[in-house]
Amino acid sequence: MATLDTTPSRVFDLSGGRLCLDFTNTVSSRDVKPRERLASYADLLAFARATSALDERLASRLLDEARRRPGDAEGVLRQAIALREALFRIFLARVEGREPAPADVAHLSAALSSALAHRRLTRQGEGYALGWDDASAALEAPLWPIVESAIELLTSGELERVRVCGLHESQECSWLFLDQTRARTRRWCSMKDCGNVAKARRHQARAKGGGGA
Ligand SMILES: [Zn+2]
Repeated sequence: MATLDTTPSRVFDLSGGRLCLDFTNTVSSRDVKPRERLASYADLLAFARATSALDERLASRLLDEARRRPGDAEGVLRQAIALREALFRIFLARVEGREPAPADVAHLSAALSSALAHRRLTRQGEGYALGWDDASAALEAPLWPIVESAIELLTSGELERVRVCGLHESQECSWLFLDQTRARTRRWCSMKDCGNVAKARRHQARAKGGGGA
């Protein structure tokens, strides 16, 4: 990486309902013409900030660290994208009632081991809390909470509420989300985007069909 993009201006759509699902949604039109929102390490930090996965102080320290070690930052970005794609395949397999590929599960399991090595007991108020070791300004730090979020979701009863956008079949959108509606009827990553596209199509189809209901 010749220069680090230090002005992350990409907007992240956080409609997934869980950090790990929002993370899988950092690429659009994955199957056809991918639009990548994680084009640089700074974008990864911007995502971590937007989702509160990292605090401001650590994110700015990591940005400084990335400027000093651009090659390492690029390596972590590649790691992040490999993790994201493994997570996507694991969750999509679950949504479609298939077994995830053992290689993807092994990938996530290895990422969990790395993340857990940085878990620390930290002082919070009168007591203690589970935190992350930030003393070493490890460039991988944005990945740890994402891995943890994925593990929490995979091992919880909420797994059965994970859905893929209704436009997945036509390969237009493969965003994942947690259906938190009581009736479990959410079909679109976003009603504003994919939901409206589908609605407009239904209208068109009806119009073509001679106005029948
Ligand atoms: Zn969608």
